Amino acid sequence: HYPPEIKTRIAYDEKPLYAFLEKSAKQFPKKKALHFMGKEMTYKELHTQATQMANYLQSLGMRKGDRIAIMLPNCPQSVISYYGALMAGGIVVQTNPLYKERELQYQLIDSGATFIVCLDILLPRVTNVKGNTDIRHTIVACIKDYLPFPKNLIYPYIQKRQYNMVVKVEQSEETHVWEHIMDVALSSFEAVEINPIEDLALLQYTGGTTGHPKGVMLTHYNLVSNVEMCDAWIYKTKPGEEIVLGVLPFFHVYGMTAVMNNSILIGAKMILLPKFDAGEVLKTIHKQKPTLFPGAPTIYVGLLNHPNLLDYDLSSIEACISGSAPLPTEIQEQFEKVTGGKLVEGYGLTESSPVTHANFVWHERRNGSIGVPWPDTDAKILNMETMDEAEIGEVGEIAVKGPQIMKGYWNNQEETDQVLKDGWLFTGDLGYQTEDGYFYIVDRKKDMIIAGGYNIYPREVEEVLYEHEGIQEAVVAGIPDLYRGETVKAYVVLKDGYKLTEAELNTYCRKHLAAYKVPKRYEFRDELPKTAVGKILRRQLVEEEEVAEKED
Ligand code: AMP
Repeated sequence: HYPPEIKTRIAYDEKPLYAFLEKSAKQFPKKKALHFMGKEMTYKELHTQATQMANYLQSLGMRKGDRIAIMLPNCPQSVISYYGALMAGGIVVQTNPLYKERELQYQLIDSGATFIVCLDILLPRVTNVKGNTDIRHTIVACIKDYLPFPKNLIYPYIQKRQYNMVVKVEQSEETHVWEHIMDVALSSFEAVEINPIEDLALLQYTGGTTGHPKGVMLTHYNLVSNVEMCDAWIYKTKPGEEIVLGVLPFFHVYGMTAVMNNSILIGAKMILLPKFDAGEVLKTIHKQKPTLFPGAPTIYVGLLNHPNLLDYDLSSIEACISGSAPLPTEIQEQFEKVTGGKLVEGYGLTESSPVTHANFVWHERRNGSIGVPWPDTDAKILNMETMDEAEIGEVGEIAVKGPQIMKGYWNNQEETDQVLKDGWLFTGDLGYQTEDGYFYIVDRKKDMIIAGGYNIYPREVEEVLYEHEGIQEAVVAGIPDLYRGETVKAYVVLKDGYKLTEAELNTYCRKHLAAYKVPKRYEFRDELPKTAVGKILRRQLVEEEEVAEKED
């Protein structure tokens, strides 16, 4: 099905990931690389500052393979320290700035990180756990110096009252202040020999939504290949001319590949937003005129429901790939209508750097499908009982193979062996494929609800809920039930000002779903808990139910 413009096989650069930045700095030295709150930085400046960071890290003793945690929301320092760390031969451990001490400590200990980069306001969390970890050096970026963060975009990483607190950070042997680094470091570093196929660039923790976090080992080649596939997929991009909206967090693999690394590869200007806020995103699009906007369904839902949506000019947007969760067709259609650009669904997971499938941006696409496998990527469906290849149309587990598939889980051979077999990654997602190679996700294996012996896929019920005119967001989960093992519960956020009773919603569901799939319980909420990329935390809702059950 591939159109002639997209190659099915690509000759990937066997280079370290930071070669993208070197190339763009040479090719587009004066073009803008970053835009942050009205301030801009060119490719030459970005490359120089990343090199200074590499130089400084090496002067602190960083050696190839040392782990460096980066605990920053999207900001220039997050891009500079990421590339600087890679240049110094380090392995980046992206750390969610929302992490509380317990989660942070777990990740630092598990990864064996010896360096960490954080914001001054996050420093107390780091200081409190540091003694239990191997951290030797802490690099601190101050939110009010260098490139100041506006107040409203630094919540929810800190409590509101913390913004006005004076955080005084002194340069010392263990603590390094950002401005000091940029003053003293040289713009040269000692090149470290990198074998892109073998050497790790990243330990990316995942499992947060489903279980205990594990460090996914991604090599330079895994990431380089996935970024180059991304570029080949969109293919109409003009090097040095594009503007990419960076609202997906770079500490998640999706934002890191589809926004940060892809922008650097194509010499685009990246507009950095430290957190999602619908009004702020609309204003930014109106003013900065981004052409590419990778996002997740809840981001697009949030924008479409903004009361002043129509006051903004969104017509600069040409292409958006939505990933990380199912994209409701209504959302896709409405978004394309208000922007005039394309919004297509893709799919992937941390273990695959992340993208393995997408719909074509400029050619035929199938609503509700995750599209076709990307170049050099094989995919198959396995029967859940026999593990043989399933028939066309039959639901089974999706397995994928390609240059973007991880090396394994860090220090966890047992879990690696469970998901990686002969180069095939078993995704834990259930789906099927059509005769002509389009893949459809039915649900996550772990999320399937078994109620009274029936298999129910939450996604199918959610789709019906999303079609209701009064519903803004919905998620369906299996909660414990004495008689049926599990039962279906729907959590619903209504559109502003819309009134709907449980009985009315139930009548609606009964009209559109077989009786066994109709939720037995409904809960109306003001909002739903979400991960940093906006994925609704179904597990958290189930855990709340389990706790409530025990307390009863
Ligand atoms: P993560 O490793 O956090 O990126 O999560 C990966 C998981 O997100 C996958 O295993 C899927 O369950 C889910 N996912 C990603 N993209 C989609 C999509 N387009 N539709 C449905 N689920 C998706």
